[in-house]
Amino acid sequence: MKTALEWKKYYSSPGFRDNYIYDGDDLGVSCTGKGTSFKLWSPSADSVTLNLFQEGSGGSPYQKIPMEREDRGVWSWKTEACLHGVYYDFAIEMEGKTVRSADPYAKACGINGRRSMAVDLSRTDPEGWETDRAPERQEEQIIYELHVKEFSWDASGGFPEAYRGKYKAFTCGDTTLYDDGVHPTGLNYLKDLGIAHVQIMPAYDYGSVDEAGKDTEFNWGYDPVNYNVPEGSYSTDPARGEVRIREMKEMIQALHARGFRVIMDVVYNHTYSLDSWFQRTAPWYFYRVFDDGRISNGSACGNDVASEREMCGKYILESVLYWTEEYHVDGFRFDLMGLLDVDLMNRIRRELDARYGRGEKMLFGEPWAAAETAMEGGAVPALKKNIRLLDEKIGMFCDDTRDAVKGSALKVRKPGFINGAEDKEDDIIRGVAAWRAAGVKAPSQIITYVSAHDNQTLWDKLAETMPQADEKERMRLNRMAAALYMTCQGSLFLLSGEEFARTKDGLEDSYNAPIAINRLDWEQAWKNRDLVDYYRGLLALRRQLPGLCDKSARAAERISHVQKEKGAVSFVIDNRPWVPVCQKGETGDAPELEGKAHKNRWQTLKIVYNSSREERPVTLDGEGWKVLCDGQDSWLWKTDRPAQGKMCIAPQSVLILGQDGNTAEAETIETIETTEATEAAGTAEHQHRGEETTWRKKAV
Ligand code: CA
Repeated sequence: MKTALEWKKYYSSPGFRDNYIYDGDDLGVSCTGKGTSFKLWSPSADSVTLNLFQEGSGGSPYQKIPMEREDRGVWSWKTEACLHGVYYDFAIEMEGKTVRSADPYAKACGINGRRSMAVDLSRTDPEGWETDRAPERQEEQIIYELHVKEFSWDASGGFPEAYRGKYKAFTCGDTTLYDDGVHPTGLNYLKDLGIAHVQIMPAYDYGSVDEAGKDTEFNWGYDPVNYNVPEGSYSTDPARGEVRIREMKEMIQALHARGFRVIMDVVYNHTYSLDSWFQRTAPWYFYRVFDDGRISNGSACGNDVASEREMCGKYILESVLYWTEEYHVDGFRFDLMGLLDVDLMNRIRRELDARYGRGEKMLFGEPWAAAETAMEGGAVPALKKNIRLLDEKIGMFCDDTRDAVKGSALKVRKPGFINGAEDKEDDIIRGVAAWRAAGVKAPSQIITYVSAHDNQTLWDKLAETMPQADEKERMRLNRMAAALYMTCQGSLFLLSGEEFARTKDGLEDSYNAPIAINRLDWEQAWKNRDLVDYYRGLLALRRQLPGLCDKSARAAERISHVQKEKGAVSFVIDNRPWVPVCQKGETGDAPELEGKAHKNRWQTLKIVYNSSREERPVTLDGEGWKVLCDGQDSWLWKTDRPAQGKMCIAPQSVLILGQDGNTAEAETIETIETTEATEAAGTAEHQHRGEETTWRKKAV
């Protein structure tokens, strides 16, 4: 029996790489009316037997078929029969032992994913699937993080009993609070809120919930078993392999039809257990091992997937492409992206762009790892410090802005700018400029957020750090947090329910807490409708502010007149849309904000953050200013409330002012000036200056 380290050395040897890297795209099962083909990559097997079953669990094989050894470690068998609905696994003889394994490349499986299923995918399409299209991509990508079960579990959501916690709940478009027919919940609520992207927490097949167990079982699902199969516990019948596929497609179809794009949360960095289908078919090929023989555990989940190895990177890439192609997924959020390698991430970006158009599919992830990992062969991890090496259209969660606004996510008592920390002003303005100072290429690389499924909810964090504050003050701080991060450049992201002061009773890590703690409480959404309304107004305003939505490399140049003092930050934003004036064959990555409603409504914005408990004076230069949003009301932009000269900002609040296009100084065509803000934000270099492609302000 070879040790992990011996396997590692073997896989790194030229003898292995020259002979066993397979570049076909037909691993797994392909099953159509014309026949069924099985292919497994198991380079060290001495023999492989294919077992066919009538059922997805239990029973014994009705047929055992010796597979044929092909080149490059591939084992195969095919038949002219369509074996749709037939379950299978492999008996693999290796090192004098026989192990049973499901198919790592499976597209369908039986209950709990222990046995794979041959599936004719054309038979799993819901009605109308061929015309399913994602809604048009919006420049501003506002992402709402949602768990399938949390979404519809609570009775307050008004979902039909049989669909609560299931994919099917998303097909119930017109749900209301306790089914009262009046107060929208579910997708109508989200639409009303102004959400454009729904991010579904893990919905591939994971291992921590027993699909044959009680409906109340709950887990976030960051423990993959079958990467290319939907999770069974969200389906109405996990025992029938095709049902979860059809129902997940129905969910995506329903989201698309209601105007949402769908982002999938993917966890390619580790598997549920080291005893996985990967390991059983190709021992230690798909996992990292340190040179001293220790098993790499940068995920803190017991294993690290070796993304830098050819067949593993290929697996991950093909899996992503499969979800986009077969399930029409619009983007991916990579869990612990810092454990994957930069080359693979950039390759995924390129392949998606080639198929669907530049940036059409969103890609972003967590640019960190839980611990050191044994990445080999000089591969570079996709960590925050390596952001310069990542494609401009690969984003990362920005923990720096998150922590600057409300305090460290890991140290629960630690406050941030809004709840009493001193010396956060510099980080706040860096966050506004999407961290150009830290080498970020453009705001398209930054996901700005203050809450996610990990760590305390925003409301709980405010309670923890401001124990003396009453509910009124916490609400004020919650509004301030929201207005602050929503006036930062970068894409916006929020945990579902942040907008209604969602609480998990202070719990930091609720991954396996009861569903009663994790579920979305739609009654809470109604009770806290004032806060929800504040978020709605902010999101509606945000979409009209090209100066903040700009994802181009030059967005930071819009910022000027930065002022910082203890507990206060203010700055001015050039809010005019860009238009291309000379392209020379390059389209560049500049935004195309032109043509949107209100495109020139406010040429200039002034934004003020005041985290102190006192009012502060605000001075406005020039005329034609309007209050767009203050600490109480985010809909003021609809009312044309004028502002002039000297005014005040309320304690613990954000003030957004806009200056009319007509009365602003009549600038026509010119390139943007270097501003003190970009200096302050650290964008000392202006590498775009002097390039042939110039982007100019729109002529007024
Ligand atoms: Ca499962």
